[in-house]
Amino acid sequence: MSKQQPPRRKHVPQRTCIVCRETNAKRTLTRIVRTADVGVQIDPTGKMNGRGAYLCDKRSCWKRAIETDVLAKALRTELTDADRQRLQEAMLKMPELAATPAQEQQRQQ
Ligand SMILES: [Zn+2]
Repeated sequence: MSKQQPPRRKHVPQRTCIVCRETNAKRTLTRIVRTADVGVQIDPTGKMNGRGAYLCDKRSCWKRAIETDVLAKALRTELTDADRQRLQEAMLKMPELAATPAQEQQRQQ
């Protein structure tokens, strides 16, 4: 029997996608960071130094972040071609949303 009863639910850090403004648990968003040496890049650890912005796991948001200036504005910079290239590659590596069971089966065959 446990004596300790937490008074509240455990706090889950929330972050907001800069494109769709949806708030979600931090781990479902990807941090984009602007660093002095490399430029704008993905921060998988969420711990890199630099100005950061968060994108959710929707490809449409990544697309807009790359094609419009919303990400550049959030990071207070301008995206270079190399920056866009990096983001594009990261986007393409993302798993497609909501893979159907049929697709899962095909993949296993
Ligand atoms: Zn979003």
